[in-house]
Amino acid sequence: MPELPEVEITARLIGAAVTGARIESALTPGINALRSFDPPLAAVEGRRITGIGRRSKLFVIAIEDDLVLLIHLMSAGRLQLFGTRASLRDRTSRLLLRLDDGRELRLREFGTKQAAWVKLLRADELEHEETIATLGPESYPDPPPLAPLLNAPRPLHGLLRDQRVIAGIGRSWVDEILHAAKLSPFKRGSELSDDEADRLREAMIATLGGALAHYEATLTLPIPDKLPMPLTVHRRNGEPCPRCGDQIEAVFYEDYVMCYCPTCQTDGKLLKDRRLSRLLK
Ligand SMILES: [Zn+2]
Repeated sequence: MPELPEVEITARLIGAAVTGARIESALTPGINALRSFDPPLAAVEGRRITGIGRRSKLFVIAIEDDLVLLIHLMSAGRLQLFGTRASLRDRTSRLLLRLDDGRELRLREFGTKQAAWVKLLRADELEHEETIATLGPESYPDPPPLAPLLNAPRPLHGLLRDQRVIAGIGRSWVDEILHAAKLSPFKRGSELSDDEADRLREAMIATLGGALAHYEATLTLPIPDKLPMPLTVHRRNGEPCPRCGDQIEAVFYEDYVMCYCPTCQTDGKLLKDRRLSRLLK
C-alpha cells in the first residue's frame, strides 16, 4: 500500500528517467481508469513529460503545454517504467504512456479491487480538482504545528490517516509514527499536550524522512511490484519492540491491522481487539 515515502521515491526515480521524453500514445486498456473527459487523453500524444511530482499519495505528471496527469494509486496501484511495451492482455494495466524512445510508463493495479484512477487536467485546474482541493497540509518534509490540526475528539490513528487533516500517511506509516512518538493510537487528538504534539511532529518528519532516505539508498529502477518497506512495528505483532524488546501487539479490523507496543505507547495496557469483541457480542 503506497504512502508518501513510496510515492515520493517513485516520483523521484521515474521522474528523473522520463523528464524530457515524448509521449507517443496513451491508452487505458481494459477497465477505463480515466475519470476525466476534457481534455481528451489523446491531448498528451506528441507532447513531452516535463516532470513528475507528488501531492499526498497522488502522482502529478506534468506534460508540455500546461497539462497534468493526476494519478491515484488507491490501495494496490503502482506506477512503473518498462523498457518494452506491455501486452494488452496484461490485466493489471490501467494506463499506458508509450514513449517515443520505446519505453513505457505504466499504471498497474494488483489485487481484486479496481479503484486506481487517472485524470487529465489543465494545470490551472489541479488545485480545484476535488481530491486535491480537500487535502490537508503535507506530512513531510515540513508539516505545520500539529496541535491545532489534530484538535478533534478522534483517535490519533484515524486522524493521521485522514488525508483532509494531514496528507500522505496511511495504514503502515501511521503505526511507525505513533510508535516513534510513544503515543497511543487511541489517544484523542484533542487530548494531546503541546509537548506530545511537538513530539508527534518530530516523529512524523523523522519516520517519513528515514523511509525516504532508506529508499534513496537502496532502490533503483525498475521499481519492483512489491516495495520492501522498512517497517519495524506495522504487521510485526508477536515480534519484539525495536525500542524496549517487549512484544508488539495488534488490533485487527476488517481490512487492516493496527500495531503498537503496550510498554512504549499505552502504559502497558492491551487495546481491545475490535474484531474479537464484535464476534463475542
Ligand atoms: Zn516498546
